[in-house]
Amino acid sequence: MKVLVLNSGSSTVKYQLFETSLELMAANQDRMLARGIVDRIGEAVPDHARAVEIALDQLTDPKRGAVRTLEEIEAVGHRIVHGGEYFSEPVRIDESVVERIRDCIALAPLHNPNNLSTYESCRRRMPGAAHVAVFDTAFHQTLPPAAYTYGLPYEVCAKYKLRRYGFHGTSHRYVALRFAQIHGRSPEDFKLITCHLGNGCSMCAIDRGRSVDTSMGLTPLEGLLMGTRAGDTDPGAALFLMKWERLSIEQMDSLLNRESGLSGVSGVSNDMRTLLESARGGNERARLAIDVFCYRIRKYIGAYFAALNGADAVVFTAGIGEHAPAIRAAACESLEALGIRIDPARNEATLGVEADISADGAATRVWVIPTNEELLIGRDTVRCIQVG
Ligand code: ADP
Repeated sequence: MKVLVLNSGSSTVKYQLFETSLELMAANQDRMLARGIVDRIGEAVPDHARAVEIALDQLTDPKRGAVRTLEEIEAVGHRIVHGGEYFSEPVRIDESVVERIRDCIALAPLHNPNNLSTYESCRRRMPGAAHVAVFDTAFHQTLPPAAYTYGLPYEVCAKYKLRRYGFHGTSHRYVALRFAQIHGRSPEDFKLITCHLGNGCSMCAIDRGRSVDTSMGLTPLEGLLMGTRAGDTDPGAALFLMKWERLSIEQMDSLLNRESGLSGVSGVSNDMRTLLESARGGNERARLAIDVFCYRIRKYIGAYFAALNGADAVVFTAGIGEHAPAIRAAACESLEALGIRIDPARNEATLGVEADISADGAATRVWVIPTNEELLIGRDTVRCIQVG
């Protein structure tokens, strides 16, 4: 059967069409038929609803389209960022599911509204297809209370459902599944520390297939340094700035989410490629931003080693994790005490492909596994409608 996957970001709608089924999946023979992106939403394209229409028109284009009519597509998998405490599994979308996704808008005001309008626009054009929601937060619903509880008054957290949720769940789950598959074993056989380093960055401690800790929290602002997000910061620093710079909530939000991170520390760019070049050219603040970025990853590797009481492997994925050997090397530096040693030549040679980059004999392996969230969303969609 043909399954479409829609992944809407703040200014993009990405799509992939798969030929798949339970049988093809079991044989690892499900395959992508088409992919595309509609970008510059808010500029060239007015909104997400229109972007979906453009994507569906591309898919059915008489000359270049992958299908003749949309009726050929049996199901659509939608990436939804925040499922709160409601969803720990993919779910077929009906009115009550839409209500709950709406309910989570307060927790993800930038993401859930776009995800919903993407879904609604798609459903209008494809009323006969099965629509399935796959949540970024779902994988992390297995976090124990000790890992997800903030040290804030209990009642106020309960009232607003304030807790750590975590994101990038589909990506962390994909690389853990793939790691097990490569080794011909089950995810239950491994303890893994996964590092998703893209524009947004997060890490995850995975204990035998279950997420037990992750670095993002209530929002994607917590944890690692990111392209433009600050990551872990004393909340006192935000209060200080609001007081002395007289910042409004919106201004503080923008400062933390859009003006901080690699971009804010370096004053150069949020893009790791540019920063590496700039640092090589002697720019000290680019160097500092990279150092903060890598140090924090190292610190979380240590923390998750403790959370898991040891790990079989550290896995790098996403734009930076897959393509930046210098960052992987720095993030794994001086971790010999944890059995982590990278082989420099293997590391340098690994760009966007699956590989073990650890030194011979290192007790904790270090891997690069390119992520594929769309493939996993497609597979989840098939399982959800066929197995339930
Ligand atoms: P998104 O989170 O938007 O999906 P990606 O996973 O594509 O982002 O990651 C984007 C990041 O990956 C950017 O910081 C970019 O500079 C970085 N990146 C991509 N290719 C390279 C490379 N060859 N070397 C260093 N960084 C890279």
